[in-house]
Amino acid sequence: MRAIALALVLATLAGCATTPPPPREPVVAWRPSLNHDARSAVVIVLHQTEMESAEAALLTLQTRNSGGRVSAHYLIGDDGALFQLVDEGKRAWHAGASRWGGLSDLNSASIGIELDNDGQEPFSDAQIATLLWLLDDITSRLDIPKHLVIGHGDIAPTRKRDPSALFPWKRLADAGYGLWPRAPLAPAPAGFDRWAAMRLVGYDLSDPDAALRAFHRHYRGNEESQWLPGDADILFDLQRQLMGMPEPLPLILPTPTPTP
Ligand SMILES: [Zn+2]
Repeated sequence: MRAIALALVLATLAGCATTPPPPREPVVAWRPSLNHDARSAVVIVLHQTEMESAEAALLTLQTRNSGGRVSAHYLIGDDGALFQLVDEGKRAWHAGASRWGGLSDLNSASIGIELDNDGQEPFSDAQIATLLWLLDDITSRLDIPKHLVIGHGDIAPTRKRDPSALFPWKRLADAGYGLWPRAPLAPAPAGFDRWAAMRLVGYDLSDPDAALRAFHRHYRGNEESQWLPGDADILFDLQRQLMGMPEPLPLILPTPTPTP
């Protein structure tokens, strides 16, 4: 019997292509410290599904599909129904290659919310009401700064256009979410550096035309890639708001991880 057992062990070892790693104990000695806190999202990224229905989008977000595997933490139907797909403590795959301020891997640093919308239609009142409820819930529980609610098109301006120019950012701002110019707008001073303000807001300027289109989609309701009258005044106010805030963006970057 011992000979058979030994032969089985040898056969098993011979089948291993690599040496197994050493057990964590006793190599690693666990000495717990109370001096830590949870790592969590610092930004909320909004999307539109660009699909026919919430059910179709849920299927895509839950399964493998031809365009690659994608997910989001939440999906809100156009009837206001709210679905959660990924735990808030986990990294959902919704942002892709993206930049915002000092952040270069938004999947690691954000909560992703998909809005059931085909990209051509207005966003329903019921959907926005649920979104406002969810933003209140998430920002208060996870301690995410309320102004850090942004769009997928803002963080990936060369690749993405969601949510569309029809998205009611001002309505979110009226409820306290996102960064929005205050009324009445003070005129920007002569020589004001619009690009520096764009960078401070968070836009990646490596493709300036794309960044301007994203800014206009978010703040002007169009997708112009040239400066428009009034842009400087808006950016001057956004800059003044951010400079009055203690920390516009976290200075500690998340560890880069491969982005699907
Ligand atoms: Zn998106």
